Amino acid sequence: MSVQSFGDSGSLVFDQGFVDHLPADLSSVNVPREVKDACYTLVLPSVVTKPSLLAWSSHAASRLGITKPEDDAAVLTAVLAGNQVLPGMKPYAARYGGHQFGRWAGQLGDGRAITLGELTLPDRTRWDMQLKGAGPTPYSRSGDGRAVLRSSVREFLCSEAMHHLGVPTTRALSLVGTGEEVVRDMFYDGHPRAEPGAVVCRVAPTFLRFGNFEILAASGELELLRRLIDYTIVTYFPELGPPSPATYGRWFSDVCSRTAVMVAHWQRIGFVHGVMNTDNMSILGLTIDYGPYGWLEGYDPSWTPNTTDSDRRRYCFGNQPHVAAWNLQCLAAALHPLFGPLGLQGELEGGLDTYQTTFAQTHAAMTANKLGLDALQGAADEALVNDLLHLLSAVETDMTIFYRRLAAVPLGEAASSLGDAKLTQVLADAFYQPLAEDEEHQQRLADWVRRYVKRLTTDPLSPDQRLALMHRANPKFVLRNYLAQEAALAIEQEQDLGPVEVLAKVLEAPYDEQPEHQSFAGKRPEWARHKPGCSTLSCSS
Ligand code: AMP
Ligand code: MG
Repeated sequence: MSVQSFGDSGSLVFDQGFVDHLPADLSSVNVPREVKDACYTLVLPSVVTKPSLLAWSSHAASRLGITKPEDDAAVLTAVLAGNQVLPGMKPYAARYGGHQFGRWAGQLGDGRAITLGELTLPDRTRWDMQLKGAGPTPYSRSGDGRAVLRSSVREFLCSEAMHHLGVPTTRALSLVGTGEEVVRDMFYDGHPRAEPGAVVCRVAPTFLRFGNFEILAASGELELLRRLIDYTIVTYFPELGPPSPATYGRWFSDVCSRTAVMVAHWQRIGFVHGVMNTDNMSILGLTIDYGPYGWLEGYDPSWTPNTTDSDRRRYCFGNQPHVAAWNLQCLAAALHPLFGPLGLQGELEGGLDTYQTTFAQTHAAMTANKLGLDALQGAADEALVNDLLHLLSAVETDMTIFYRRLAAVPLGEAASSLGDAKLTQVLADAFYQPLAEDEEHQQRLADWVRRYVKRLTTDPLSPDQRLALMHRANPKFVLRNYLAQEAALAIEQEQDLGPVEVLAKVLEAPYDEQPEHQSFAGKRPEWARHKPGCSTLSCSS
């Protein structure tokens, strides 16, 4: 354990539980290679030319007890750029593998992320501080270990936005420009270009993924797999009790239910992760690795922002709950060589069932809340929801705006006496083509609203309770794809940090009305419909 002082920042206490308890790669040669019998490789971040702090999350910082560095010459700025390692930090890149797009891909590992150390707070919580874009590691394969500014802005903004939306996620503390350029072929189409580089400091209790466990099973390192599981349970799941066969079963079930809750939240807010490979699935059920993610604008379950996946659409919005289950099956298969002989086959199957029931219950409860209902009941409610989803996808309808405005439809006597146009007027903003020009759709929507309003009369919630519930379930502000892209471009092209700062601030209160920021709640403008980065992204994003 080591205490570090950053001048005004006070004292930060670093611990090294992961590094001290689990075996390191015996080699420290920093070239791409296969690593065996280890959970990580000790490796230092690479120095960058000209670090400059571009964005700072005061919320994450206050949670961690860290004060913003005064300027770009501050020690903390150098640390967050990867230029300085403090005594007590033992930076490492983790070894993991993963199933990518449905196939085992072998060793992957932290190819551009380096964990600096574990911050231990007085409230006994611990936070891994990890730099993304910190330079090459033995896991970099053919990559350069760097990240471009636009993808780093996207990760910084979305991590914090998800936190404020109430979705389990890793956090982001800082965004630091490197002063160096990175060459990327954004769409893998033979048009590489140099872009500014950046480093994000992200924080989470741990960045362990399903893939950290899978790689050990795949290479037959079962004793190490057991050690990693035991360490994970003792450190991150202490409430489950000391490691034992009974605890193992509870642990897998807990991972399954956390994953279910995370994905239910994604479906609630229209978030599409974009690359749900098992190396991007957190063992804590946190949203992790913000790459070619996106937000549904027009409600379309088959939509994916990831151009690499545009043919098969494996990771499209509607498939996310299914893919999470598939990924948990991969994790179960990795645990099986250890759990099977302990008689825990049933616990693995039970955990997968827990995923299904937890997802179904959480998703149903969230759907009810989105509609302002206490609970969904019976076949009539199921039909009400299904008919709504059908209507939302029949013409291009902005999911976020629609649900937010639904709280304002006229109720009671007013509803029954109004014609179709008046009844649906408050929802008109949600349509990409004017609703009034599509009479048939307007009529079907009005019929649905009448059914909905009638259903509300049988619900036990008071009007105030209903409004409060809907406003907590339906954000007004999400990180629309074009907003993130515009904010990144402002830094890249005009060195203007303002738009990222304002956007991050608006997204700190996504459920508040914030009328002065109405422009952030509008539909995607037409120019952004097919613009790269605003509607589609690749894995190299
Ligand atoms: P992702 O698609 O971001 O989850 O990355 C999949 C794998 O590729 C992980 O092992 C990453 O560390 C690695 N990777 C992605 N980009 C780079 C890069 N620029 N340099 C080195 N490794 C990378
Ligand atoms: Mg990843």
